[in-house]
Amino acid sequence: MPHTKRKLQGNLIVISAPSGAGKTSIRQGLCELMPEIKHSVSFTTRKPRQGEVDGVDYSFISKEEFINMVDSGDFLEWAEVHGNMYGTSKKRIDETRAQGFDMILDIDVQGAKQVKNAIPDTVFVFILPPSLDELKQRLSFRNSDPEDVINKRLSKAAAEIVEYTNYNYVIVNDNLKGAIGELVSIAKAERARVSKINEDWIKEKFLGGIK
Ligand code: 5GP
Repeated sequence: MPHTKRKLQGNLIVISAPSGAGKTSIRQGLCELMPEIKHSVSFTTRKPRQGEVDGVDYSFISKEEFINMVDSGDFLEWAEVHGNMYGTSKKRIDETRAQGFDMILDIDVQGAKQVKNAIPDTVFVFILPPSLDELKQRLSFRNSDPEDVINKRLSKAAAEIVEYTNYNYVIVNDNLKGAIGELVSIAKAERARVSKINEDWIKEKFLGGIK
């Protein structure tokens, strides 16, 4: 079988943002434009919001099931966020990357730190809203959560934003299309990295005939 240009194992991209920064829309936009990137569907103990589909947005499980998975070492990373547990399945990540797909993980700053320790060549992207005022407006507008939850999220936002220095890239989401475009550019550039290129492909393609 001829060799492929890229090493088979796909890249991992982590995106984090304070809630309301538009991370989910940006991630969905990326996956629509680049079918070679798959979203890592997390496990959570949170109840589904209206319109959310089990197995697509999240795998919704009970606290007991979640704790069993933690005890079995099933998670690449996990964290408690706003009173609910969220975790990334090792198995899902490994299987999908082994098929050559890149994976995008939409996780919080605590989870991102764990991924950095476990898989240091992950690409970390931090997404910011245009301003704190805009973030307040978006959270109140979304209206899917009770007010005390919104306030909790707002007070957490500043603490999360400080963490941007642990990331490789920052995208300001003042325009959804522009933000998706930036993320596409990052994903494409990362796919072209020398460290991701298959040496056997170079040899076969270009060096075979050179004596
Ligand atoms: P939401 O409940 O609004 O969908 O997500 C709340 C927060 O949990 C977001 O910051 C989201 O990125 C984060 N999150 C979602 N899945 C995971 C996960 O698997 N691990 C971690 N650490 N955070 C997650």
